[in-house]
Amino acid sequence: MMGDMPGDWDMAKDSKKKLEDFDLVKVIGKGSYGKVMLVKEKGSAAEELFAMKILRKDNVVKRNQVEHTKTERNVLGLVKHPFIVNLMYAFQTPKKLFFVLEYCPGGELFFHLSRAGRFSENRCRFYATEICLAIEYLHCQDVIYRDLKPENVLLDAEGHVKITDFGLSKEGITSANSAKSMCGTPEYLAPEILDRKGHGKAVDWYSLGALMYEMLKIGR
Ligand code: ADP
Repeated sequence: MMGDMPGDWDMAKDSKKKLEDFDLVKVIGKGSYGKVMLVKEKGSAAEELFAMKILRKDNVVKRNQVEHTKTERNVLGLVKHPFIVNLMYAFQTPKKLFFVLEYCPGGELFFHLSRAGRFSENRCRFYATEICLAIEYLHCQDVIYRDLKPENVLLDAEGHVKITDFGLSKEGITSANSAKSMCGTPEYLAPEILDRKGHGKAVDWYSLGALMYEMLKIGR
């Protein structure tokens, strides 16, 4: 299949940037298909830091993630919202894909929740509200997120939410049940995704409910 060839990556929307335009500061994370580096743009007066996600094309192909990776790139390029990680640049070499993203120094909500055990109602309300606004925005763009979980909610320097990881999101959803594939993380998945009978935007509200339950540890 053409789409599975390592070289068949649409370059039309690539930014006019290359790896040499950035100073690499350090590795900040290891993803399933590559790594994430902290970088600074060379020659820029602002001392702004970015997170550069580097994916090896052969790895992406080997693990059948071509479609997910293309979706991630498309959706990130489409959306712009204060509570969603912003894609600054995307470019590629014959072997690698580079996504330059807003840097979220606060780390994963998952880390903070594991450390705190549970959050107060006020803290939960704060995160839930920001996530709610991000999801509402995505739905208005006919995108379902489908992968809401504490690992995918990052925090910026001020502690505001930035949702990330759009590999499982689905573009062009307009009807209530036009998505059919099974994906997402079991704990936060809506029953209609597991039933594979078609699902729509409501699955994100289900996951938000599960996430709030997890943040508050209700009854536990
Ligand atoms: P995965 O492949 O598991 O989905 P990612 O490749 O998205 O993970 O990210 C790998 C690691 O890098 C994670 O620990 C994540 O917290 C961190 N990371 C990803 N994006 C950013 C960012 N924009 N700012 C700060 N850290 C990030």
